[in-house]
Amino acid sequence: MRGTATREDIARVVARLAEVGADAHVSAGKHRTVIGAVGDREIIQELPWEAFPGVERAVPVLKPFRFVSRDFRPEDTVVEVGSAKIGGGHFAPIAGPCAVESRDQLFAAAEAVVAAGARILRGDAFKPRTSPYAFQGLGEKALELLAEVRQEFGIPFVAEVLDPRDVELVGAYADLIRVGTRNMANFTLLAELGRQNKPVMLKRGLTATIDEWLNAAEYIYKEGNHDVVLCERGIRTFETATRNTLDISAAPVVKAMSHLPIVIDPSHSAGYRRLVAPLARVAVVSGADGFMVDVHADPENAEVDGAQAILPIEFAALMEDVRALAEVMGLRL
Ligand code: PEP
Ligand code: MN
Repeated sequence: MRGTATREDIARVVARLAEVGADAHVSAGKHRTVIGAVGDREIIQELPWEAFPGVERAVPVLKPFRFVSRDFRPEDTVVEVGSAKIGGGHFAPIAGPCAVESRDQLFAAAEAVVAAGARILRGDAFKPRTSPYAFQGLGEKALELLAEVRQEFGIPFVAEVLDPRDVELVGAYADLIRVGTRNMANFTLLAELGRQNKPVMLKRGLTATIDEWLNAAEYIYKEGNHDVVLCERGIRTFETATRNTLDISAAPVVKAMSHLPIVIDPSHSAGYRRLVAPLARVAVVSGADGFMVDVHADPENAEVDGAQAILPIEFAALMEDVRALAEVMGLRL
């Protein structure tokens, strides 16, 4: 719809779509409103939409992922996570321990990342471990500690959910709910997250193409939750020098295809501490809307992913670089 379209113009289009048995998904943006029509393509295409008052143009969306595509919404989506914004020129540094291990461990990391300029804290209560005998996370106790940190430092947090049965629990505490790489194609979990109202971070599956990843995002979006953030975390390739291969084209490729914000996880991509800062800097200049890095004050004794956690002092140095690069890129931190 044109920027000048009235509420009546919009209602007329919605009503006409209903008459032909199509669903209308109205998305009001700053400059224009987009009405997504889902129904019989032949019937919808036949109607002279440009003759309706207020209609700018009718665009057939050919991709299987409709609502998350740029065709559906030309403007960047900005996702608000507590006091932080991700997307549309807002770059969000996310940092913290991979898992919440204890009160002291969490507070030490949180204090350091807040002081260095992180906007969102990470810390997991439920961990998807390769071995069923490895540390699985502290569960609700960890969520309570994270909520305590939020209270103390005023920083929102992201935590992973593994099981559809825990969506309510994690959502009751977290500001941003994360779906890990192993669950990207867990469509019942995605749909469940689409029916609740906390923003969702969707990591790219280990072997997922960008197309498959955007289809997974569509599962969340189509249920009504439009606050979806994508996270590139490296993919499986033949290379063994890194834990996973960070796809540095992910941000520009995704930006052309989708309006959703995208962040980069250099820690789970690289797997090694010394690679994290270089890849985090790449995130800023590749057009991503944020990054998420593992920070641990005592990585030698970490329960999970110690080898890829950077020290608080390394995170502070990284943030100096990030501030300089963000200025070059015209990003707000
Ligand atoms: C994580 O971020 O802690 C995590 C488990 O990542 P991934 O799902 O990308 O392996
Ligand atoms: Mn981890």
